[in-house]
Amino acid sequence: MWHYDPPLRDMRFVVDEVLGAPDAWTAMSGFEDLDAGTAAQVLEQAGRFAAEVLAPINGPGDLEGCVLADGRVSTPRGFREAYQAFVDAGWPALACDPDCGGQGLPQLLNSALFEMLAAANHAWTMYPGLLHGAYECLHAHARGAVRDTYLPRVTRGEWLSTMCLTEAHAGSDLGLARTRAEPAADGSHRITGGKIFISGGDHDLTPNIVHLVLARLPDAPSGTKGLSLFLVPKLLPGGAPNAVRCERLEHKMGLKGSATCAMSFDGATGWLLGEPNRGLPAMFLMMNAARLHVGLQGLGHLEMAAQNALRYALERPQSRAPRTPAPRSGGAADLIAHHPAVRRTLLELQARAQAGRVLAYWAAHALDEHARHADAGAREAANERASLLTPIVKAVLTEFGHFGADRALGVWGGHGYVHENGIEQSVRDSRVTLIYEGTNEIQAADLVVRKILPDAGAKFAALLDWAGAQCEGSPHAAAARARIDALRGAVAALHRDAAADPELPYRAADDLLFAAGEALLGCAWARSDALAAGAIARGAADAPFYEGKRVLARFHFEWLGGEFARRLERVAAARCALPFVA
Ligand SMILES: Cc1cc2nc3c(=O)[nH]c(=O)nc-3n(C[C@H](O)[C@H](O)[C@H](O)COP(=O)(O)OP(=O)(O)OC[C@H]3O[C@@H](n4cnc5c(N)ncnc54)[C@H](O)[C@@H]3O)c2cc1C
Repeated sequence: MWHYDPPLRDMRFVVDEVLGAPDAWTAMSGFEDLDAGTAAQVLEQAGRFAAEVLAPINGPGDLEGCVLADGRVSTPRGFREAYQAFVDAGWPALACDPDCGGQGLPQLLNSALFEMLAAANHAWTMYPGLLHGAYECLHAHARGAVRDTYLPRVTRGEWLSTMCLTEAHAGSDLGLARTRAEPAADGSHRITGGKIFISGGDHDLTPNIVHLVLARLPDAPSGTKGLSLFLVPKLLPGGAPNAVRCERLEHKMGLKGSATCAMSFDGATGWLLGEPNRGLPAMFLMMNAARLHVGLQGLGHLEMAAQNALRYALERPQSRAPRTPAPRSGGAADLIAHHPAVRRTLLELQARAQAGRVLAYWAAHALDEHARHADAGAREAANERASLLTPIVKAVLTEFGHFGADRALGVWGGHGYVHENGIEQSVRDSRVTLIYEGTNEIQAADLVVRKILPDAGAKFAALLDWAGAQCEGSPHAAAARARIDALRGAVAALHRDAAADPELPYRAADDLLFAAGEALLGCAWARSDALAAGAIARGAADAPFYEGKRVLARFHFEWLGGEFARRLERVAAARCALPFVA
């Protein structure tokens, strides 16, 4: 049956061996005393919470959904108790500054925590999903009484937070947002306007909700340069209700246990965070962390699909397979796990989930290095790496998560199409990850047009050099580096041709992002394979784990290499005109 087995062994492999994080932490301020054993304990406890508390309320929460009655939203049964247990265990404060009541642990561990939460129960995880981003935003921008009142409570998760950007006519283009902010005599502001699709806009998990709202001051310039950021609480200091209301809950495809709210602000009291008209840069503190977390949601769905499909395929007999591991099972049919078509799907899911984990944790580790490394040069290099990896992680892992769940559904046949077996919920819940926090098309444009081409691919070349160096010692190193060289060539050609055809980078962006993703996944496999070969040669105790890594690395290069080639072909095809449609 559908359940979550936290992939702790694989997480430890990535954290300790692939990233070498425990060694790296010795050069990061605040993490010097953190060791592999402590990290493993944190992951184990997080895995227990995800598997034992969150996974059991995932399916029931989907059937029950959220209810709006008398202006208040109720979440499904068990969500509130689970959230209280989450707060009591101190999980919201895991990666927050100890000076603000946090535990001061790395983003890397927080990312592993969120991968597990999302895998076990994506809808529930939407509520605390924005908490860390809100903490970062308040930590950087809140001052005086606003800071004293809200930062500690958000750090502890006592009050949850939202990110209020989207309006009915302003989605990807936030510059069109119209919500207004009028200064009041006491230094606060009155916020008026409507926001839609606000995750956790109202709920019954915490008594107060801290809305972070983009709005325009009087005489603000048009576009994104005229947006300011305001903190607007559900309850005012003293406990009186603020003029904020949930008008409607969206009836949506998935994430039924997550309240997606249309919110109205009717002269609500709010306080400016940061500088006037600098709301979007302030919000970006939240959005970058949020983008990585959305990638982790994709990874969570992929991991769930991979492990549950494998369990089912090892239980379900159907037809004779052309070949089986000896001895052939008794009975009239073989397990479906032995049919080549099913085997290929299972291996593809596993190969993508495990290399996807390396990719996501590379990005999280780079955020830690940027924030904490003792050496300024290393901090800067890590910042550039994180900035390039974030849109790739977001787009590639969400695509793998959703389409992986869709492929996995086929392993159950018709039984995958019914609710009880869990996978159809995963297909529905995962679809939105390709859309929110900037659609994957927007991620691709961000990567190619804003981050790769302006310096003729120089920073991207540094990322590729770094990735190529990860492949040392693997028999797959040459194949992985050949992809990197091909990618460099494609970027150089794009840069050259874009001068005469300014639309070209936008036509090529999506495929270039995925080609970069496939190339990085190849480097992840080459590194994992080299480490596994070394462990086997040293006579490591859990040789089957490492042998499994080597099998998947070979599968990646033999079976999935075509994905990279297909994406690069489409980058080349982007030179052709794309007609307008009518
Ligand atoms: C379940 C759910 C939860 C959400 N939670 C929140 C939340 O908590 N807070 C919040 O503020 N918002 C939230 N959103 C909103 C979400 O971020 C937006 O839906 C998303 O940014 C896309 O905006 P849009 O829906 O208006 O689509 P549009 O912007 O209208 O886009 C429609 C299509 O056009 C494409 N497109 C648009 N512009 C470009 C471009 N420049 N280049 C290439 N393609 C482009 C898009 O990729 C997309 O395919 C949520 C949405 C959902 C469904």
